[in-house]
Amino acid sequence: MAEESRLLSAQAVVVGAGPAGLTAAIALAVGDVETVLVAKRPERPDNRTSALLAGSVAALDVLGVWETCREHAAPLRVIRLVDDTRRLLRAPEVSFSASEIGFDAFGHNIENRHLIAALEARAAELAHLTRIDVPATALTPDEKAIVLELQDGRTIAAQIAVGADGRKSLCRAAAGIPTDGFTYPQAALTLNFAHARPHRDVSTEFHTETGPFTAVPLPGNRSSLVCVVEPAEAERLAALPVETLSEIIERRAHSILGKVAVEPGRGVFPLAVETAGRFAGDRVVLVGEAAHVVPPIGAQGLNLGLRDAATIGELAVAARRDGADLGSTALLAHYDRLRRPDIASRTAAVDMLNRSLLADFLPAQGLRGVGLYLLDQIGPLRRAVMREGVAPSAFEPRLMRGEAL
Ligand SMILES: Cc1cc2nc3c(=O)[nH]c(=O)nc-3n(C[C@H](O)[C@H](O)[C@H](O)COP(=O)(O)OP(=O)(O)OC[C@H]3O[C@@H](n4cnc5c(N)ncnc54)[C@H](O)[C@@H]3O)c2cc1C
Repeated sequence: MAEESRLLSAQAVVVGAGPAGLTAAIALAVGDVETVLVAKRPERPDNRTSALLAGSVAALDVLGVWETCREHAAPLRVIRLVDDTRRLLRAPEVSFSASEIGFDAFGHNIENRHLIAALEARAAELAHLTRIDVPATALTPDEKAIVLELQDGRTIAAQIAVGADGRKSLCRAAAGIPTDGFTYPQAALTLNFAHARPHRDVSTEFHTETGPFTAVPLPGNRSSLVCVVEPAEAERLAALPVETLSEIIERRAHSILGKVAVEPGRGVFPLAVETAGRFAGDRVVLVGEAAHVVPPIGAQGLNLGLRDAATIGELAVAARRDGADLGSTALLAHYDRLRRPDIASRTAAVDMLNRSLLADFLPAQGLRGVGLYLLDQIGPLRRAVMREGVAPSAFEPRLMRGEAL
């Protein structure tokens, strides 16, 4: 390789081609920002699904991705919460319907493999986007640029690096950003299953003493499962023969979906919270799990990640139009300010929900029951909570509102 081709340059470089990184790279390139996407193939296939809320679907639609996702996604029109604990104080059953807030659906559930394939296909079409399938090994920011080193010896100089490189983010470490977090005594078993009865676009969440057991619709008579239990129990369930596991899942779902047939592909994910101390600094902005990890409760994780991607897309595209530096201190501080309230409030809400389930403390159980009772009975409160669940009342990026950058 000629020496010149070992020194590349771009306006922006995105590190990590998971769903958050791909979306950020597409948003930048669609807005004519010269972008390089640096990718490392994941170690194992992702068998999870993502419940994408209405704003995320709108953003993917504007970016030209949703059209390819549509046939693989199932609408979530009703969310049903059922107290399946054997406790003294049990909460009433509550159902939320998207039509109550004028939505056709709260969002859509799609297998990550289909979402990633649609994002990759769209990324490949864009003239301003170059993908390099070589891991990044180091980043060095200075006053004028940030220089990224790749494993094959090439380097890329850019004005800004978007760190979408997941939980063990190299970008976050290079910018000297610490994280704060903790683990829960829980793990999520994930799998997909076919069932005899239709789900009728209803997602059902059974609240158990160890965490939620949630069946989320997929197209046809199929659903995805997130079953939160103690870590050893998750491993035990994941290792069971298919017939035994199918019977257990049918029993835990109280047969609402009829006979269950578990499909190949199971995952076990320890539950944790991890939040970056800052979401930007030293020409690096963090998106997706490089910035925040939340438990898979209430479908918040990737929806937050897509809002990060849409926000940096919006700020960087505006800076390019103004001929400004995409990695300026002012732009980075603006990004941090915009993302902080959304990430902090969602992380706190998911944590509170999870803890209220785990609590053996009678008053805490009572409070949860009263909370759900009020939600069931008071229309305006119900609708406010539903609206906030679908879209944040704080800053909502243009893409989430269905507007182009
Ligand atoms: C059980 C479970 C269920 C979930 N369900 C939902 C849901 O229904 N809805 C929802 O919104 N969220 C959900 N989430 C959260 C969601 O899955 C995550 O937020 C999302 O996958 C994170 O995407 P990401 O792109 O930030 O990170 P990742 O998907 O981790 O991508 C990071 C990428 O960076 C790459 N990388 C790392 N280091 C380098 C390097 N040095 N150079 C180049 N590339 C690198 C990795 O190979 C990887 O491809 C769930 C999570 C769990 C655990």
